Amino acid sequence: ASLPARVSSALFEQAQRRPEAAAVSDHLGRGLNYQQLAAVVQQTAEKLTTQGVCRGDRVLLINENCVPVLVLILALSELGAWPVVVNARMAAAEIDRIRSHCQPRLALYLMDSQAAAAQWQTLQSASVGSDCMLNVVGGEVACRTYETQRLPQDQQLSDQGVFTLIYTTGTTGDPKGVMLTHRNVLYVAAVSGALRGLSADDRVYLVLPVSHIFGLSAVFLASIYAGAELIVADRFDPAQAMQTMRERQVSGIFGVPAMFARLADHARSTGISGADLPALRFMYSGGAPLDPAIKLKTEKLFSLPLLNGYGMTESGPTICQVRYNEPLDNCSVGRPLPGMEIRLLGPDGKPVADGEVGELHIRGPNIMLGYYHNPQATAAVLDADGFLNTGDLVKLDERGNVHIAGRSKELIIHSGFNVYPPEVEGVISAHPQVLLCAVIGREAEGNEMVVAYVQLAGGSDLDEETLQTWLKPRLTAYKRPSQIIFMDPLPTAPSGKVLKHKLQSAAR
Ligand code: ATP
Ligand code: MG
Repeated sequence: ASLPARVSSALFEQAQRRPEAAAVSDHLGRGLNYQQLAAVVQQTAEKLTTQGVCRGDRVLLINENCVPVLVLILALSELGAWPVVVNARMAAAEIDRIRSHCQPRLALYLMDSQAAAAQWQTLQSASVGSDCMLNVVGGEVACRTYETQRLPQDQQLSDQGVFTLIYTTGTTGDPKGVMLTHRNVLYVAAVSGALRGLSADDRVYLVLPVSHIFGLSAVFLASIYAGAELIVADRFDPAQAMQTMRERQVSGIFGVPAMFARLADHARSTGISGADLPALRFMYSGGAPLDPAIKLKTEKLFSLPLLNGYGMTESGPTICQVRYNEPLDNCSVGRPLPGMEIRLLGPDGKPVADGEVGELHIRGPNIMLGYYHNPQATAAVLDADGFLNTGDLVKLDERGNVHIAGRSKELIIHSGFNVYPPEVEGVISAHPQVLLCAVIGREAEGNEMVVAYVQLAGGSDLDEETLQTWLKPRLTAYKRPSQIIFMDPLPTAPSGKVLKHKLQSAAR
């Protein structure tokens, strides 16, 4: 089937087909059906035009998840302006770095969020512009208009189909600004949604921030595309999530592994089980390596398979996904989406032998246009044939399922042996008193040492020696950490992903 021209067209098509069907709702009781959502999006697009927003303009949205931000994203997509969605929980300095990189025409602060209100104060003093207020679906939105220079190439990029400029998590360094087209995200919405069996009957819990590509594309836009209902939450709290899922009869949830670890921990300590959530049909994990222990715990408590998926900001995001009707009993990320080509290359740039680990290169309709205003960085990952180097080391099994070994940048070479951090993390996480774990390499005495950061489950009194003794029979000597550091909490991005480069710099 052909894809709609724009992200907003997907909404208008649903509004025509099923105007009365519930579209979005949040904890403030703001609920809109598809017809109402379409009408509010049109009105908001007009208001933004009055504010001088044109195609090719970047519009910075500083927010936590809420109905108005979803409306603004769709309204900007209708205008061909680019929503740059940034999480209000990021440090003000990080937000300001993104602001000066993307040069927005307008910055919008969703005043519903406590965090955004604080950021608004800081940024008002850091930048020059004129201010006003907008009302979007009953929510107050503070606007700051900037006198930025309009570049003709930005308008041209919009005409070539750019939908959004979205920043990577910043796991390995500074976040990079990725230009994704309407087609990139609509392909993911259509194809990954179909492989999840996502339909108009679903009620999806949107707790992953829409500032991250997983929440924006695979959850929010895919649900609109399918005509499903979205239950919007501004941040993840396990008790709140369980209550909302039960009361609102949520049928599907998406999260990063750390979120499922906390959900399982909560369910175990309160005696909640899958029987309390009869409407729940699927659980999808993605965004970071899924530890076997977390998968097992979650599946046992909820009596449902935890399905894995793999992607990155640069590919809008989905690359591989476990099909919902073919659950796997291992932590493979499943097969590539139909329409995607993959290559596994060795260090010499040649395809690796069957079953060997190689760096994954991908091509398909979801590959980004490029990094914004950064042709060198774009050329470093995107080759002339349209293949993107993911920087991830993977292998294929006989059934064509992809297994992620780890990032090439994070591979630890200890005394000449390769240590893949996700494997070590998986073993440590299996300890019943460990909630989360992150493993990094650290230079010492001309060698690279394995260092583990561990966040313990509530009420635990585990010490390093006991954990080392426990690990001995479970991990080969060269893979065992030479140091275990307890940290609560581990540094995470608003999506819940662990920021490993912060662990690196913390130790310097
Ligand atoms: P940055 O590029 O700024 O360093 P990042 O790569 O973490 O940060 P994202 O685009 O959010 O930014 O994450 C994509 C990466 O996350 C992938 O390249 C991969 O390393 C990892 N990843 C995503 N899903 C999975 C998964 N299911 N299993 C293992 N790793 C995953
Ligand atoms: Mg990356």
